Amino acid sequence: MSMSKSGGAMLIEELKSRGIRVTPQRAIILDVIQRNPGHLTAEEVYAEVQRINAYINLATVYRTLELLKELDLITESDMGTGAAQFALRTHGPHHHAICRTCGRSFEFPHPLLAPLIEQLDSKFEFVADAHHIVIFGWCHRCLPASGR
Ligand SMILES: [Zn+2]
Ligand SMILES: [Zn+2]
Repeated sequence: MSMSKSGGAMLIEELKSRGIRVTPQRAIILDVIQRNPGHLTAEEVYAEVQRINAYINLATVYRTLELLKELDLITESDMGTGAAQFALRTHGPHHHAICRTCGRSFEFPHPLLAPLIEQLDSKFEFVADAHHIVIFGWCHRCLPASGR
């Protein structure tokens, strides 16, 4: 992971350097993703893109997100909201714990997960894609009602 964290043109440059054509529509989508520091759903990207250019359709947004995922430039997470949340790789590494009952969440730092990742690698010869993990559970307030 040696991507630059600065500069609005990072994603565009990254795609061009991999020989991928960046259309003006795609450039707008990339810019929207680039400027967001957190997570976005495809619909949120689409809404933002629409304000800049109303001719860009949702399918183009989906295709661009798929491409960025394949290129490993963004992560896709199930945050329990029913819609996939996308974030730049540079958004991590960090992880989220989310209460299934009330939806309260907090971020926990990578070092907490690091021993697990290390052991999966060394003992099970498995390299975890653990850049941005979401763990579901119950906060202490909701635990009694969860029946756990
Ligand atoms: Zn996150
Ligand atoms: Zn809760």
